[in-house]
Amino acid sequence: MKRTLTLSLMFIAAGASLWAQKATEAPDSFDQMIDRAVAQENLLLKIMRGERPVAETYIQDLGPDADFGSVPKTDHYFLGKLNLSNGVTTASFIPKSNSKTRAFDVFTHLFSIQYVPRGFAQMLLIDGAGFDRKNYDFDFVKREFLGDVRTYVVNVSPKKGAGAGRFVGRIWIEDRGFNVVRFNGTYSRPKAGEFYMHFDSWRVNAGPDLWVPFESYSEESALPYAFGVRKLRYKAMTRIWGFTTSAERSESEFTNLTIDLPSVKDSSDDAADYSPVESLRAWEREGEENVLGRLEKANLLAPAGEVEKVLDTVVNNLIVTNDLNITPEVTTRVILTTPLETFSVGHTIVISRGLLDTLPDEAALAAILAHELAHIALGQQIDTKYAFSDRVIFDDKDTLQKFRFERSEAEEDAANARAVEYLQKSPYKDKLNQAGLYLKALSAESEHLPNLIKPLFGSKMGTGNSVTRMAALMERAPQLQTTRTEQIAALPLGARTTLDPWTDQLRMTKMRPVPLLSAREKMPFEITPIFLHLRYESTPEQTTEQKIAQQ
Ligand SMILES: [Zn+2]
Repeated sequence: MKRTLTLSLMFIAAGASLWAQKATEAPDSFDQMIDRAVAQENLLLKIMRGERPVAETYIQDLGPDADFGSVPKTDHYFLGKLNLSNGVTTASFIPKSNSKTRAFDVFTHLFSIQYVPRGFAQMLLIDGAGFDRKNYDFDFVKREFLGDVRTYVVNVSPKKGAGAGRFVGRIWIEDRGFNVVRFNGTYSRPKAGEFYMHFDSWRVNAGPDLWVPFESYSEESALPYAFGVRKLRYKAMTRIWGFTTSAERSESEFTNLTIDLPSVKDSSDDAADYSPVESLRAWEREGEENVLGRLEKANLLAPAGEVEKVLDTVVNNLIVTNDLNITPEVTTRVILTTPLETFSVGHTIVISRGLLDTLPDEAALAAILAHELAHIALGQQIDTKYAFSDRVIFDDKDTLQKFRFERSEAEEDAANARAVEYLQKSPYKDKLNQAGLYLKALSAESEHLPNLIKPLFGSKMGTGNSVTRMAALMERAPQLQTTRTEQIAALPLGARTTLDPWTDQLRMTKMRPVPLLSAREKMPFEITPIFLHLRYESTPEQTTEQKIAQQ
């Protein structure tokens, strides 16, 4: 049953021929609106086919718990480049020797279940082929605001005979360009022995008329498998970013370089030659820039922005109060991946988005950054081999194999000791309890979240089931009280930052503090459902047509 919508703008006289020109006129019936949405969806699919974004899936398997209902028991991680040119395929960043990348084995029992990374990536699309009126029925439900964006809510179900793997659920269509901005449900009619999970998938506005996949949340509370003998309980998030390809980036970098060049040259000491010390520093700086540039090109490092300014301020507070004189200046960057880690490359401290997200306050952040600052101040440089440019020329997917910034145990111990000294002289000295609590919480969870604490690039924050990073802070911290709402030791994943998937630009979220009803809502280090405040971007960007024309 179809219903005609009452719309604020009516272009009855315009006639059907105008639709082909795709102007800004509003559709005057539900069917026309659906036609627009289907056309936009297929346009997006066409764009996606030309892109090679990064896809990250993180899964937490849950088990029952007396205090919280359910808690993570173990976890799984996948990071790869997504290729939609021919169905959904993924090229893994994670070297095969390190992990089971093709599929995640949850149980080693006779009836095992495997998570397929490709399956999670699929959840970013409604239907890879054939999202149209021929295969689907559409039913209007209601109108609803998602943040600032007005949407039509529509139920979608596959027609009889539309085949297996069709989407069934609900879509939200924004009312300016008629793009799908959210969809939730599952795929229908899985093959025997396979399952389709339930998911809630969100998109964000990346430019005029362009809504790109952003994040997808999936959960099952009791999916029976192995002839119904076992039940699967998990929650998972799939994030996608890095739509701007490295080729597009170097093109714009080249243009910027030509403009920026005069300001790069420092004319103040024209006559001076490099001293041996300056040569060494310049050499190390070059290695550092090579590494950071390569990570950014692989869409793993966020371009420096507002988040890095916040981090730089904290580092600066430590430097100033400890009278440190470090040249070149220490700066910070963020890698966009979830596993909790920090590392430093030359004089740049790098922190992962996952770690940043879960830190409860500035003092805890200071403790984490102080450790890397200590490595730098102690002169513990990374290998200068990256100053040879050939070492940064490789395929994106080999990044994790090529770049390792692990440190020796002796260096770790020295940095921990020095960092505690820094903190004691810093403005954070009276707030270190919270930092210690964070590390205690991480220690308590580390056994159940082995993949969250397994670094992709840097040194481990702990071994087995205890945290060794800045362990001295744990000794003086109060007792961990997981069941009390007053004590927040660590935040859920995604609590602090949000990402523009088109530009890789990270920003701090603007969230109101919400009093917790129960300890169940604390969710330290956990995956949470997504609910975005959607908005239209005001920044000028390419339209979808321009984007297509370029390909
Ligand atoms: Zn370290």
